[in-house]
Formats: sequence, structure tokens, C-alpha cells
Amino acid sequence: AGKLYLVPTPIGNLSDMTPRAIETLQKVDLIAAEDTRNTARLLAHFEVSTPQISFHEHNTQMRIPKLLEKLQAGHSIAQVSDAGMPSISDPGKELVAACVQAQIPVIPLPGPNAALTALIASGLAPQPFLFYGFLPPKPKDQVKQLEELNYQKCTMIFYEAPHRIGRTLASMVQVFGAERQVVLCRELTKKYEEFLRGSLGEVQEWAQNETIRGEFVVLVEGNANPPQIQDSGLDLTLPYANQVEA
Ligand code: SAM
Repeated sequence: AGKLYLVPTPIGNLSDMTPRAIETLQKVDLIAAEDTRNTARLLAHFEVSTPQISFHEHNTQMRIPKLLEKLQAGHSIAQVSDAGMPSISDPGKELVAACVQAQIPVIPLPGPNAALTALIASGLAPQPFLFYGFLPPKPKDQVKQLEELNYQKCTMIFYEAPHRIGRTLASMVQVFGAERQVVLCRELTKKYEEFLRGSLGEVQEWAQNETIRGEFVVLVEGNANPPQIQDSGLDLTLPYANQVEA
């Protein structure tokens, strides 16, 4: 069988494309791309002429059998998303799972990723961390998700689009409180790369007064003082605990 290569692409700076990523895109038979027009520009820049097929969130299920068929026939495929690592808040995971199940080798290449790039410069504890990705768009659903994260002790990493950053920060203030430390990373690897560090209250105020452009990673400090689990006075030996679970 052929191999599935997972190829990261730059998140804003073309020089972050690795030589191995270029070689891989050159040598495979087919590139499965989230947006073929977008990837065409990248391929033109690096003089890669491998054919592409579209592979995005709306055609994943339809495409997988076709891609598996090609892999099983001995063709190799590279999967790319618009930016950064495939599968990380991007299409890919279903294809990888299908290959794993069909015993087709999956070869990941290291490379650009917004979450880890932001984390290492944040100044917050780099481990343990929790990568969340995008919160749901509606404030009510955001608050519900954030409440589940409120007692996390680890650094939390979120992705957000510019038109939603204000609302998302407001939900965070509501659940985590205005004092929690946050780092906003904007336009990573690009000309106007910027880090905003402060309390959630400060950063939210900044966001209210700005015309916000660019892409964001939001890192939130873990809860330094999660509440102690209360002694309920019950005998929590295993059989009883199991009953409570059930
Ligand atoms: N697969 C990508 C990765 O590995 O990071 C993430 C794709 S996700 C659809 C896009 C989100 O990633 C953006 O909304 C933003 O939160 C974050 N992102 C991508 N590029 C970024 C950059 N240059 N600076 C800051 N955040 C970025």
C-alpha cells in the first residue's frame, strides 16, 4: 500500500516550510488539500506540480473511500490543511483513523502549529497544558464549556477568530474571573506578531477598544487554587463509589 503523509504548512511565514515538507509534496502521487486554490499558491511558490484533490470538512466522508482506494492501490498521498498541522482544528482526523484501521502507514511530519508556537513564548507553564481549539460560537455554550474547564490546573490553549475574540474574552471573564492571567498571541510568525499579557479583565478591556484584526491564540493560566473536594462524610470505598457513578 501507499503511505499517507501528514504535511504541516506555514501559519504565516513561508520560510517555515521545511525542506522535508517540500520534498514530500513533490514525491507523493496526490495532495489532499483543505482548499486547493490556497494550496495551489503554496505549491507554485515551491515549484511543486503534484496534482491535488479537495479534502475538507464538508466532503470528508465522501472522499475517504476514494482516498483509501488509491492508497491501497499503492499511491502515496500527502494531506495538507490551509495552515499549520492537519487535524489540529482542521480536517484530517477521520482520514487518519480510516488509514489506521486499514493498516495503511501514516507518516507525520513535524512543522508549524499555532498552539505550540504560542505556548513556548507565553511565559505560562508550558506543561501540563490543555489544547482546546475553538470554543463554540454562542456565549451560552461558551460559558458551559468554560465552566467545565474552570478547575483545570494546567495552561489552556484556545483558538479564536478576530470577530469573536471580544465575546470569548467576556465569557472567560464571566467564568474564570477578571484576575486570571491570559496571553493573547496575534499574527504569529508574521510581520505584526504581538503578545498581549495581563489579567483577563485588562485584556478584555483592551479588546473592547481595538479594531481587532488577525488570528489569535488565547492562552489562559490554570486555576492555581482549585477548591478542595469536600469531605462528604460518606464511606467512599469502591463498591459505594461505583454505585454513585452508575
Ligand atoms: N492547523 C492549524 C495549526 O496547526 O495551528 C490551526 C488551524 S485553525 C482553522 C486556525 C486558527 O489557528 C486561527 O483562528 C487562530 O486561532 C490559529 N492561528 C493560525 N495561524 C495563526 C497565527 N499566525 N497567529 C495566531 N493564531 C493563528
